[in-house]
Amino acid sequence: MANKWDERKKAQEDEYFVKKERELLEKLKAKQEGEAKAAEQVAGQMKCPKCGQPLEARSFQKIEIDQCTGCYGIWLDAGEMEQVAGKENDSWLGRFWQTNR
Ligand SMILES: [Zn+2]
Repeated sequence: MANKWDERKKAQEDEYFVKKERELLEKLKAKQEGEAKAAEQVAGQMKCPKCGQPLEARSFQKIEIDQCTGCYGIWLDAGEMEQVAGKENDSWLGRFWQTNR
């Protein structure tokens, strides 16, 4: 059975939790906004399979490629190699691609 003291204590606790909850929600909101912004910058960020550093999307001849920010390795998605090689028919890369199909 609750007496007056318990009720007051309960009210203070409620107030405390409401405040804490609000703080948490604000933190969560800020975190989500930060994450959304980061996701915008690097859509579906991937990690380098070699060194584990994040990959950075770069544009090479209007084709989006992923370059590692750690070892600077370049990763191509399926079809990207073909796109790059297709545009580079006269280059070593294009020749390499054509002769190794
Ligand atoms: Zn790497």
